[in-house]
Amino acid sequence: MARIIDGKAFAEGLRGRIAGHVARIARDHGITPGLAVVLVGEDPASQVYVRNKARQTVAAGMASFEHRLPADVPADRLMALIDRLNADPAVHGILVQLPLPRHLDATMVINAIDPAKDVDGFHTTNVGRLHTGQPAMVPCTPLGCLMLLRHHLGDLSGAEAVVVGRSNIVGRPMAALLLQDNATVTIAHSRSRDLAATCRRADILVAAVGRPGMIGAGHVRPGATVIDVGINRVDDGAGGTRLVGDVDFDAVAPIAGAITPVPGGVGPMTIACLLANTLTACCRRHGLPEPADLAA
Ligand code: NDP
Repeated sequence: MARIIDGKAFAEGLRGRIAGHVARIARDHGITPGLAVVLVGEDPASQVYVRNKARQTVAAGMASFEHRLPADVPADRLMALIDRLNADPAVHGILVQLPLPRHLDATMVINAIDPAKDVDGFHTTNVGRLHTGQPAMVPCTPLGCLMLLRHHLGDLSGAEAVVVGRSNIVGRPMAALLLQDNATVTIAHSRSRDLAATCRRADILVAAVGRPGMIGAGHVRPGATVIDVGINRVDDGAGGTRLVGDVDFDAVAPIAGAITPVPGGVGPMTIACLLANTLTACCRRHGLPEPADLAA
């Protein structure tokens, strides 16, 4: 039976280390890292995410600034807010909650954020930096996956890694990070031929597809480490819903060497890494050494 990679416990430890650094920076330098979150509209899922982000930001000792705008906000008003946040010295990280209403161009909005404050790592400058091996702000979910992989496997050099999914939020940055850690990386997607055979080559299999239980026993090489990024809400058969991943956990766990559960695997790492990125942005802004133990 696979080892369970406990992302919830790891994220808790990471948040604790971040809180320690935040307290030290406040004591020694009188600086409080600040994260501004911009929410446009009333999307219920986004509201829950934003609430959780604010709660965990404050719990880590950071300053949390929340900006809520109506769904029909004109683009120029949103851009003016981003300009103000870019110029605000108390704000080290800016996150615009996605998805945005249709009338707003998400790429234009994200690219209006100062890349040094782009804690989601979605700005074209940060994407380019990541893919050219330069220091960048790295998207939170793949960063969390990388931390879990390093923690459980140590050196990833030479490992065969297969990432299923090529989104800008998860799949592509995940592949870039694995490549940076010297894995041999394959990216699979909806047009890939014989996905199962490709996946079976993997020592490290990352599923970021958005299809419940799509990765089954036939996709996994015995002993592989399986990271399930998927978060899918499905019928629980009792009139309610439950969360499942992209991996058929019950079928894969007896074969894999290690596996992240859903919930409690990758999910909790995302906000923890957002806090880590905010701390990193703050250290860079003020010329302070970046904490080396965040991924420990
Ligand atoms: P996207 O829908 O943006 O991308 C899905 C990717 O999966 C695409 O590249 C698509 O290929 C590929 N795909 C779809 N169907 C197949 C198939 N049958 N075979 C192979 N590849 C396929 O999703 P995201 O990357 O944003 O998210 C993926 C999952 O991760 C979702 O469940 C999401 O909820 C979850 N997620 C979890 C987070 C967390 O905090 N844990 C954060 C972000 C996402 P193609 O490009 O060819 O269309």
